[in-house]
Amino acid sequence: QYNLLKYRTQDLRKSLNDSLEGDIRDFLINEAELHTYDDLTKVNPVTPSTVLKCLQARYSAKVFYTHAGCTLVALNPFQPIPHLYSLDVMREYHTAPQPQEFKPHIFIVAEEAYRNVQGQVEPMNQSLVVSGESGAGKTWTSRCLMKYYATVAASSQKCQDTVEKIERRVLDSNPVMEAFGNACTLRNSNSSRFGKYIQLQLNGSQLLVGASVQTYLLEKTRVAFQAPTERNFHIFYQMMKGATEKQRLEWMLPSEQDFAWLPHAEKTLEGLLQLGNVYFSPASEEAQPCDLDGHSKAADLLQVPLDELQSCLTVRTLLAGKQSVLKPCSQSECGVRRDCLAKVIYAQLFDWLVTFINNSMCADSSMWCNFIGLLDVYGFECFLLNNLEQLCINYANEKLQQHFVAHYLKAQQEEYVTEGLQWSFIRYQDNQGCLDLIEGSPSSIFSLLNEECRLNRASDAKQFRVRLQKELSDNASISWDKLSKEPHFTVAHYAGNVSYQVEGMMEKNKDPVPPEIISVLQKSQDSLLHSLFADGDRESEGSRGHSKVVTVVSKFKNSLESLMKILHSTTPHYTRCIKPNPDCRPLTFKKEEVIAQLEACGIVETINISAAGFPIRIPYGSFLQRYGLIANTRLTARMNRANTHVSLTGPEMSDQAVLGSAVEDVLNLVLKRRAPNSTLSPDD
Ligand code: ADP
Ligand code: MG
Repeated sequence: QYNLLKYRTQDLRKSLNDSLEGDIRDFLINEAELHTYDDLTKVNPVTPSTVLKCLQARYSAKVFYTHAGCTLVALNPFQPIPHLYSLDVMREYHTAPQPQEFKPHIFIVAEEAYRNVQGQVEPMNQSLVVSGESGAGKTWTSRCLMKYYATVAASSQKCQDTVEKIERRVLDSNPVMEAFGNACTLRNSNSSRFGKYIQLQLNGSQLLVGASVQTYLLEKTRVAFQAPTERNFHIFYQMMKGATEKQRLEWMLPSEQDFAWLPHAEKTLEGLLQLGNVYFSPASEEAQPCDLDGHSKAADLLQVPLDELQSCLTVRTLLAGKQSVLKPCSQSECGVRRDCLAKVIYAQLFDWLVTFINNSMCADSSMWCNFIGLLDVYGFECFLLNNLEQLCINYANEKLQQHFVAHYLKAQQEEYVTEGLQWSFIRYQDNQGCLDLIEGSPSSIFSLLNEECRLNRASDAKQFRVRLQKELSDNASISWDKLSKEPHFTVAHYAGNVSYQVEGMMEKNKDPVPPEIISVLQKSQDSLLHSLFADGDRESEGSRGHSKVVTVVSKFKNSLESLMKILHSTTPHYTRCIKPNPDCRPLTFKKEEVIAQLEACGIVETINISAAGFPIRIPYGSFLQRYGLIANTRLTARMNRANTHVSLTGPEMSDQAVLGSAVEDVLNLVLKRRAPNSTLSPDD
């Protein structure tokens, strides 16, 4: 903690002539030393370009962590740095009286949260929010945090049913969840296709006694569709590779055949969908029952009656008054139904797995009193084509950004109060407008989407786009490109503009599951599959009772709201992961990529907030060293009077108040000389 001299850059520009401004800038930026800055907000002046330079210099010097105010920026090294995460390093950070004084590290964040849990006054739950784009290192960082706590907070607690230690079980839940929820994508060979919030439960002695996990928005469409050069979920490939000969026979795994749903399988890997203890071959489900062999294999494995499986995929039941009418589906409708069957099973199975994992590691509520939550969520997304998935993901990021900004502003405010500075945020604008646009009431994108689903009419993208414009054009965060042929709308997110296509959005929001499919699955003789659908309450398209339909956005909004509630009740810590290049190559720093991510993860916003306040921060001592000469005589007299020993070359600043007024003196002289009409006072 040291006193700082602070200006607003704009005022400075107005009041000082260019030469002095340049003078100060040269004084501030010493490029040769940029890599030594441990905190980006201390780079002087704080601008996106200086911050970028600093990060680049650090990356070249193989320094991967940097503070940015109350945030930690983590650059992905894309190569193993073993010494950085060893047990010894963990212990070092854990036992240090002041870990913050060590080099920036994810362990500082971990340790700070760990110490905060105990609390000075009363214990306080903590949240560690890890964000960044795909491949930036979020999951890696979360794993690293889990390992840290499993080490420093290891209890001798055994799991109820085995001799296994609880921390082992918590760590072991990772590979299982990643097998089912991660896949190889263009951006990351181990990309998480779901969001995750894990609570590490600590007892009164700060020991890890259990954990629980909550997941968000699994990308279940991947089961039946993968973009070119991408892959299905890891688990399918793992099963293919790991199956014994006996299992192959039992699960009807052919040995030399390509499966449509399992691209880029290596070796003898063939496509095959494993659904719980049921193996489900996509080839077995031709839209029209032309491949009977496939159909019967699927029916065998799902343990459902073959004829009912076929009819649920190929015939739909319509209600006309009190009578039901059977209508054969077109080939493409059959395809949609087949995909839907696979998706609904996979999604239910994933939920079941999460519940199973929770049951096996969650401690009894009497055993723990506080938690540290780790949030690993997908970062802001902007692709060539964006649809409901991106809207949901970006909405989640807006929510988190709002939470972060509120927290950061508070921290800034507190710092200024400590420094005795008066100020107000003039230029800062928050993202409430954008959130209102997406989720607000009475009219928002979500509410209109939901209304469309309730009305249950054939969705028409063009009409819906007109509706959006009619209802929402008052909101400054939405715009329309009149030249675009496809109906779309553009949302001005805090991280940039994203254009969303309307086509398909309403259908995705409904996410209909034909009731015939559910009722067939309920007849399964396979006990797991049967139990997944037994209660029959899963909201289905239903020919009746459309009002019951819980849409994707409603569900997502609700789960996000409960997450935000938890976050609000905890002390947050933010880590922003940055991917220095798109090719996942070590030692490669692409400026354009990085600046775009700094923007997307809110660091630029953080910088802007700093800049809206006092972006130039010079310790009194340094200032006097440089400019003290201007007021040399007066300064000496004052120092003498105050009897303060101040050497203008040394840092023995015993009396900050005297130094402060000396700085004021110098400033007054400088400002009078350079800009006689200026009304700027040093307080500004
Ligand atoms: P995300 O979850 O953000 O999509 P991951 O955490 O899966 O990204 O990271 C992608 C890859 O980057 C990892 O598989 C790993 O190879 C590498 N990586 C990430 N962070 C680190 C790190 N701190 N040290 C070494 N490699 C890392
Ligand atoms: Mg991930």
